[in-house]
Amino acid sequence: MTSDTKNKRLIAFTGGQILTMDPQNNNAETVVIRGNRIIDIGDAEICNQYPDVDIVNLDGRTLLPGFIDSHNHLSSFACFFPNWVNLFGLMTKEEILGALKKHAQMNPGNGWIVEFGWFDGKSGGIDLNRFDLDEIGIVRPVLLIQATFHMSVTNSLGLEMAGIDSPTPNPQCGIIIRDSDGNPTGVLIENAQSSVFNLTMNTEIREHAELIRARAIELLSFGITAIHDPGVTLKAAEAYRFLYNRENLPVSVLMMPHGATILDNDPGMWLEGPKTGSGDEHLRIGPVKIFADGATPETVAYDMVIRGQTMKSGSFRDDFRGILYDATRKGFRVCVHSFGNATTDAVLDAFEEAKKYAPPEFEIRPRLEHVTLISDSQIRRLAVMGGCVSIQPQFLMRATNFSRAPVENAKWLPYADLFKSGVCVAASSDDPGGFMDARDPLKGAVMGSTMSNGDGNTVFPDQVLPFQRWLWFYTAGSAYAGGQEHERGMLKKGLVADLVILKGALDPENPPVVDETYKDGRLVFKHQNEVNV
Ligand SMILES: [Zn+2]
Repeated sequence: MTSDTKNKRLIAFTGGQILTMDPQNNNAETVVIRGNRIIDIGDAEICNQYPDVDIVNLDGRTLLPGFIDSHNHLSSFACFFPNWVNLFGLMTKEEILGALKKHAQMNPGNGWIVEFGWFDGKSGGIDLNRFDLDEIGIVRPVLLIQATFHMSVTNSLGLEMAGIDSPTPNPQCGIIIRDSDGNPTGVLIENAQSSVFNLTMNTEIREHAELIRARAIELLSFGITAIHDPGVTLKAAEAYRFLYNRENLPVSVLMMPHGATILDNDPGMWLEGPKTGSGDEHLRIGPVKIFADGATPETVAYDMVIRGQTMKSGSFRDDFRGILYDATRKGFRVCVHSFGNATTDAVLDAFEEAKKYAPPEFEIRPRLEHVTLISDSQIRRLAVMGGCVSIQPQFLMRATNFSRAPVENAKWLPYADLFKSGVCVAASSDDPGGFMDARDPLKGAVMGSTMSNGDGNTVFPDQVLPFQRWLWFYTAGSAYAGGQEHERGMLKKGLVADLVILKGALDPENPPVVDETYKDGRLVFKHQNEVNV
């Protein structure tokens, strides 16, 4: 017997604001759940139909569906992040190397030291190479992962352990940066990181599952009850299944099939197994995740006209088309990392072409990740194709730089334009990537709705949207982008009883807090008083 059938408690939530996220039903006063399902929704009187119901008085608070983080690297990076040296906010060489030294002193041993959250010089941070890391005298392999995961730097011992030397060729879609003599500098870009990733993030299934579970429990305090994991290796899927089989998965997970190492476009045996949509509301297979461009200054595919001058970068991923067609032919939806505008046309062309290969009645539902720069015509095209985007409001932290170089042929982070054009917008954290701990959807909704760059300054004021619209992006928008609209994202009869109660007004100037989180109809988080799951 599963917990769902054991848990038949009948609860009615009433006495506050109900945000159904359902455009067909904006006026509900009461939501009734039994076990893990919403069984009724309507006016205050519907409680009378359920004599045994337990009433949760919202007392002026706001009830809405549990948040869905539509881009959270839970299994590939986020679960390991607590064991790494956190470099968020450290901007000088001295600070970064100091944090590394301190960590080594406090955590003696021989194994890898991993630091995360560094930015290279071209990305507004500082350049580091193997010699900088060698100089501080740590006789252990060291890996600094750039905040986008698309670039790393390792020390000489790390290169040696990864088997990277002067004769090592660049892998497909990867660059081993070299000095003028052809010797690796320690900087590894995109797929060139595979070997160091495999060495530093290789755990037993059981340990991996524990790390995932610990990080996932934290999400409940942010009101997040489901995530999309954009890059699940077959091995990580085993860790998820390990938790699922023991009813130990704290949040629902949409696994997006991916190659054996993150950034490797070949999903391999994933395509021979269960297809997009398989599974249940706790663990489901989502769209296959592939990359059309990268996210480093060398690999992000921008094609910009700035003050009349054309500037191009990146656009080196040619391997995504064949995989998109193959996945579609086999009944998988596909989601493409399309960070810059230069790849977007090629990606939309490929989705168009993929229709030829799709099984009968199959809805392709194109999905793009990040879309930091996109043109009006690309937005219209995506809307016509019934497409979705998963966006990260924390990228507004960089918006001040963007706004200084106005692009004439496309727009930076045009969130309102995307929504108003009819593209389905899903919001997300990219945890643990980016510029900050971006897991809190309410913080994201504040940044996104005010188009604030993190310092409280509004950039791109024409893209401001109401706070509530951003809550929709984190619920119904994300559900649709994950093909989960039949199960979550709205307060609607028959959908899962994953709920959040917010305390405080829905005002970005003075935002509310998550007061309670319900997962499968059970209270799993209460503000300042966590409940065991
Ligand atoms: Zn990501």
